[in-house]
Amino acid sequence: MQKGKIGVTTENIFPIIKKFLYSDHEIFIRELISNAVDATQKLKTLASVGDYKEELGDTTVRVSVDKKKKTVSVSDYGIGMTAEEVQKYLNEIAFSSANEFLDKYKEQSNAIIGHFGLGFYSSFMVSDKVEVISKSWKKDEKAVKWTCDGSPEYTIEDADRDRVGTDVILHLDKDSKDFLEESNIEELLKKYCRFLPVEIAFGKEKEWKDDKYVDTDKDKIINNTKPAWTISPAELKEEDYNAFYRELYPMGDEPLFNIHLNVDYPFNLTGILYFPRIKNNIEIQKNKIQLYCNQVFVTDSVEGIVPEFLTLLHGVIDSPDIPLNVSRSYLQSDSNVKKISSHINKKVADRLNEIFNENREDFEKKWDDLKLFIQYGMITEEKFYDRAAKFALFKNTEGKYFTYDEYEKIIKDNQTDKNKTLIYLYATDKESQYSYIDKARAKGYDVLLMDGELETHLINHLESKFKDSRFVRVDSDVVEKLIEKDEKIESELDQEQQDIIKLIFESQLKGRDSFIPVTEAMQKSDSPVIITQSEFMRRMKDMSKLGGGMNFYGEMPDSFNLSINTNHEIIEDLAKDAQKEIGEEFKKQNETISSFEKEIGETEKAQEGKKDEEVSQAEKDKLEALRKKKDNAEAKKKEIVGKYADKKPVVQQLIDLALLANNMLKGEKLSTFVKRSIELL
Ligand code: ADP
Repeated sequence: MQKGKIGVTTENIFPIIKKFLYSDHEIFIRELISNAVDATQKLKTLASVGDYKEELGDTTVRVSVDKKKKTVSVSDYGIGMTAEEVQKYLNEIAFSSANEFLDKYKEQSNAIIGHFGLGFYSSFMVSDKVEVISKSWKKDEKAVKWTCDGSPEYTIEDADRDRVGTDVILHLDKDSKDFLEESNIEELLKKYCRFLPVEIAFGKEKEWKDDKYVDTDKDKIINNTKPAWTISPAELKEEDYNAFYRELYPMGDEPLFNIHLNVDYPFNLTGILYFPRIKNNIEIQKNKIQLYCNQVFVTDSVEGIVPEFLTLLHGVIDSPDIPLNVSRSYLQSDSNVKKISSHINKKVADRLNEIFNENREDFEKKWDDLKLFIQYGMITEEKFYDRAAKFALFKNTEGKYFTYDEYEKIIKDNQTDKNKTLIYLYATDKESQYSYIDKARAKGYDVLLMDGELETHLINHLESKFKDSRFVRVDSDVVEKLIEKDEKIESELDQEQQDIIKLIFESQLKGRDSFIPVTEAMQKSDSPVIITQSEFMRRMKDMSKLGGGMNFYGEMPDSFNLSINTNHEIIEDLAKDAQKEIGEEFKKQNETISSFEKEIGETEKAQEGKKDEEVSQAEKDKLEALRKKKDNAEAKKKEIVGKYADKKPVVQQLIDLALLANNMLKGEKLSTFVKRSIELL
């Protein structure tokens, strides 16, 4: 037996390894199996070029757990190591690279992702003794056994092993007993080793015999050695891609499209990306892409490696060119990673464009499931916007699809306002905005349906991109004013009548402070009363809800216009009746009010420019009294109108009908409305 001391300066590196990489302890399994797979592939290569002349035989890598001995073992039939190689690789190279690794990251333990770099020595994160028994492929080499207990001391001695290959036996320490549970090891194997290129066996297939499951002698292989992304696209059919998708996400819906990535210059990258059906809630759809390095699973968080919006895609990326043992912030500035990111970005856009051009009908069918993804990309990635603007679609309220260019042509003639601004009308809900959509359509306008999670953002974005264009929601104003043209409808009511009408409705709103009555001259055939909400206000509120940070608007109460159609017969009749009944008094009050106003104006003028102390108390009191009198007269006027309106159930009825059309009449008010309707009948 030969004894030795690993030649490094640090007296005991293992406690440091354990401490530093605490959260990533499980990666030891990935490291050991990667080594076993590498060794196996090397032997296969040697055999294929004729250097290794023996029968290859079984090349399965076996993982096993012995609960009694508290060991986890990984055995391979790879190239093995001679005593010298064990000395060189395990004692010198591997150890010094572990040492170097720790030196480098001591200061930033948080930044370590722990992916690779530590290799074989990660075994010591979970063991207090590691044994390696190996027999080299080289002729006449004896098998050797290397033992190390976690201190820098090791032993090398002769060992028995018939076939070429290596066993690594970990004697787990007391903190790592969890790894003795077969189910835990199986889970790790499925996570890290699912697509390794050499068969990995863990236990035996079981069969049902004599009322229980018993082991057969067939190995249970846990991996697929030829995952779809490693196969040439020419050999794969649509079903193969879909089958692979199900292998990755057994619970997922069928994907919409896929992209097979296959780059070997200027970097190496393979993979398959899938477009999932994204209905809503972007966040939960993220982080489904898995990153591999030569078929070894590395991570499923690819932020920084692909553009943000592409994290919505599903699938696999495999690249040996992505540096894995560095921090995220470093990753984002790595030039290879940047190239990879922009390559994927372009590929995705190209593929979508191709599908759009080849089969527009199919593309339209899938649009609703796809749009969130595309819109997300357009909003967040300038370069993607430029490409996607050619195939991104608008859908109108009739369910027809248009490209941006097509749509512009369609609405140009009819929807350009007097300031030459092109107005895109849109609705966010076909049901609740039905009456507005209907009116706009009757006027010959087209209305888009923008009901997606991101469409409020998209609208802002498009307004910054489209020239002289604006988006206006159909219910943001009465139809005549959605797109302002030169033509103007005259009001049948004079100013005084309009004032009375406004006050009549105001008096009957009864505490609904968020509604402001306004009179509008609309078509005779339009509704007598319509509720609208200003585009600006609503959008600001929507944006602040989505986290745009505009809290001032977010906290403002909702406010709506109650637009009264001064050309509707009912309103005209009401105005005329009111004028007959209370016109005299109304006029009188108005005269009183304006005489007070005049006096107030004169008094104010006299005090203008004077400092506060230069105005006498008597003068101040006079002004105060005048203002009060005026207020009283206003109140009196309102009272007169209110008393009149109280006797006109039609006013309440019209308000309620307008609310009802907007789905805003609820609870007690709704039942009052129903009762009143019956009485009126
Ligand atoms: P890396 O795999 O990154 O080179 P490791 O520390 O994991 O670093 O391994 C060091 C070296 O030990 C490997 O490069 C290989 O030459 C040798 N080695 C490790 N495991 C095996 C094995 N199962 N069979 C043959 N050689 C091995």
